[in-house]
Amino acid sequence: MRIFINQVNNGLKIKTLILRYILIIVIMLIGLNYGNKVYGADENGNVVVVIDPGHGGLRGESDDGAINGNIVERHINMIVAKAMYEELSKYNGIKVYLTHDSEDVSMSLRARSEFAKSVNADFLFSIHFNASELHSKYGSEVWIPSIGSYYVAGYQFADIELNELSQMGLLIRGIKTRIGDDGDEYYGIIRENEWRGINAVIIEHCYVDNKEDRRYIVNENTENDNAENVNIENLEKFGKLDATAVAKYFGLKSTELGVDYSDYKKLDVAEPQERVYPDNTPPEKCSIYLKYIGNNSITFSVSAKDSDSYINYYSYSLDGGKTFSELKIWNDKRSSEDTIEVTLSDINVDIGNLIVRVYNRDDVSSDSNIIELNGIMKQKSDKTDSDNRSSEAKSFVKDNRNTFIGMALIVCGIIITFICMKKCRR
Ligand SMILES: [Zn+2]
Repeated sequence: MRIFINQVNNGLKIKTLILRYILIIVIMLIGLNYGNKVYGADENGNVVVVIDPGHGGLRGESDDGAINGNIVERHINMIVAKAMYEELSKYNGIKVYLTHDSEDVSMSLRARSEFAKSVNADFLFSIHFNASELHSKYGSEVWIPSIGSYYVAGYQFADIELNELSQMGLLIRGIKTRIGDDGDEYYGIIRENEWRGINAVIIEHCYVDNKEDRRYIVNENTENDNAENVNIENLEKFGKLDATAVAKYFGLKSTELGVDYSDYKKLDVAEPQERVYPDNTPPEKCSIYLKYIGNNSITFSVSAKDSDSYINYYSYSLDGGKTFSELKIWNDKRSSEDTIEVTLSDINVDIGNLIVRVYNRDDVSSDSNIIELNGIMKQKSDKTDSDNRSSEAKSFVKDNRNTFIGMALIVCGIIITFICMKKCRR
């Protein structure tokens, strides 16, 4: 009986041991898989990329996106997306899809994400152009997910993408997150994909409604902005740059293009466990210092600091803040603290007070101290008046001294003449 129990116990022990080993091997395999995340979601080991041309549907009836004049975002998004598709297809080891290939197709954000899920996408890239309420902003930005590995992937890609776009000469506004009131991702395409475990970013190439950026979208010297006037060549260049950024991100190579990004080094980005919020606080410092003032020009320095992000633009007011200039580029360093020098010429310095406004990465602004230009000009002209008066006094003294010397010389002359005449008589 005892022997039988021992045999049963031994049998159980062996089974437990085998199960334990299987469990360890399974855990190790899972760990190995997570440790070296190998892209390639399709059965042939290809990277799977989905390009999503933003907006769509018949004009006026559906979602056009940003509009300026006759420039319609859904139209230019499709041109960029197709160029990106074509360029990316030239790389080895990648499968590329478009969520839709006609700008007249209306597609919900959920349907776009479901499509990405159905093809087992590694990454979805949503192609867009921007517009702002006051038509004042310009530059490129990339919206990324705000948490975990999605944030890391988004940030690493956006860093490469914005580097590519800066080659066009565009202002780089930055890499951004946005969170809704419910604490979830604000942008639907990012939210829908995050829910389905897919990396996704929104590329806002530039603004359709600001002259600084419109020159990249429409042909120059065109009076009417109609669909035919869009600069196809430039838009296709955007698409190619997007494709290059994707190729660099995934470390792809292309036999056709003769490029190899397999050693491309991505930025090291720490994985945030909680959502990364945008910089909603204004720059903590903005101060101005007058360096020169003339009759129609001034030079001043602006020192600004925003430790949560950096300064993108500044604008100035010469009427005490009633009206401001267009947004000017701060500098391209994107450091949290810096000082720049500004010279304004052909201005009427008598009109009032100088204020400078600086804008951080997330467009939150701070105003500087006020410099009363008309007060300084008045002081300056008073000083000039008193300078003039003292120089008049000086010239009066000088003139008198000259008269005295002149008279003395005349007297001397008369005396010498008189002596000479006396000597001659002898
Ligand atoms: Zn858009």
